[in-house]
Amino acid sequence: MSLTRKTAAELGALIASGEVSAVEVTQAHLDRVAEVDPRVNAFLHVAAESALEQARSVDARRAAGEELGPLAGVPIAHKDVFTTKDMPTTAGSKILEGYRPPYDATVTARLREAGLVILGKTNLDEFAMGSSTENSAYGPTRNPWDLDRIPGGSSGGSSAAVASYQAPLSTGTDTGGSIRQPAAVTGIVGMKPTYGGSSRYGLIAFASSLDTPGPFARNVLDAALLHEAFSGHDVMDSTSIHEEVPPVVEAARRGDVAGLRVGVVKEFGGEGYQPGVINRFREAVDLLESLGAKVVEVSCPSFTYALPAYYLIAPSEASSNLARFDGMRYGLRVGDDGTRSAEEVMALTRAAGFGPEVKRRIMLGTYALSSGYYDAYYGSAQKVRTLIARDFEAAFHQVDVLVSPTTPTTAFPIGERADDPMAMYLADLCTIPANLAGNAAISVPCGLAEEDGLPVGLQIMAPVLGDDRCYRVGAAVEKAFEDRWGGPLLKEAPSL
Ligand code: GLN
Repeated sequence: MSLTRKTAAELGALIASGEVSAVEVTQAHLDRVAEVDPRVNAFLHVAAESALEQARSVDARRAAGEELGPLAGVPIAHKDVFTTKDMPTTAGSKILEGYRPPYDATVTARLREAGLVILGKTNLDEFAMGSSTENSAYGPTRNPWDLDRIPGGSSGGSSAAVASYQAPLSTGTDTGGSIRQPAAVTGIVGMKPTYGGSSRYGLIAFASSLDTPGPFARNVLDAALLHEAFSGHDVMDSTSIHEEVPPVVEAARRGDVAGLRVGVVKEFGGEGYQPGVINRFREAVDLLESLGAKVVEVSCPSFTYALPAYYLIAPSEASSNLARFDGMRYGLRVGDDGTRSAEEVMALTRAAGFGPEVKRRIMLGTYALSSGYYDAYYGSAQKVRTLIARDFEAAFHQVDVLVSPTTPTTAFPIGERADDPMAMYLADLCTIPANLAGNAAISVPCGLAEEDGLPVGLQIMAPVLGDDRCYRVGAAVEKAFEDRWGGPLLKEAPSL
């Protein structure tokens, strides 16, 4: 079997035992990138030279008798919002074109330390604002299941890279669903850890009270291995939590649900949901029951207000975070010809450097925070946030995990929602509550919708610091489905 078809855990074991070299594994993935990425556009930057160099150093360490970690020598692609000191970092924006950060994000640094080989940086919606990767300043990424469709967003380059076997692992960030939704629509696994469980240091900020780095992989165990490799307290991030990383790898290996109480969120379903998505979701719930879980319906009434609250809070924080892109400190500078004031240069730079969705968010956020409107908009949204956290708390008194479809529809055609922001925002209907409350949540594949043959994701939500439950239930569902399907949902990237 080709090296690009193996799981990260398998590759790590082969490299550690010396059966294959890290250089061979890296080269196989670089070849795959060269073969398919001209059609997929998952990568904004491919770091072939430095990847091979990192791989050589892993091989040298093994040859010197060093014991390697489980993911040493395994290739990874990073969403282009994580700073990387030896490569460009654009956040998918023209305003950061040519920016080379002088330092590594904690996530990047920890994974380098663990011996993972960085293949390159992946495409995304500009500043992670979007659900389709169409808002990138560098062209859309395509879904490996159907090249005319979106791979989800904002981490669409990362989902497409893994789903098209260009990388066994990738990183993403989830502010409102940007890991779980792309994972769902490309038929892979994506996890949003508990807020504060993975460091934001060196992550280009979108909405700081929500931004959460997390893993993508083609199976639950690989996602858990990656999760464990970059998580844990970081003194460089003031909102990083001190608690131990939950035992996610152990939970992924265990993968059982016997005796577990599973709550089906009553509010997610009905109008706007694709029938094939609902059908696959119901089958997943039946499957959980047949595996010994106790399934009950749970009502979380405030979840209905999560989407509007998010679209006040996230743009408010973004309007503040993006103030730093002023043409003075990073990347692009427009109109600096000696005749203009600094203020004029800033205005010209921001007008030319930001795309339309980013401008929309800055305007929305500035308005929501302005005096006279602050209480009505931002203040009310924060109150909704508290209600959502309380609904979760009440639910987790009754059940161990909550489940829902990850996203109301399968991957939509490129261009279909580009001019309709509301339709685009609805892609995150089911994922946003976990962001507002800071909970852990994962998306795992649960089948193909009958209308279009495209993947559907099951979302499993757990309490704050209950990340291990997501992996435990996710692994159980994965195993049961694979027995039924005769292997993983994603067998080949169907349209490549
Ligand atoms: N699609 C949502 C948005 O546009 C979520 C994005 C994200 O999680 N980064 O804001």
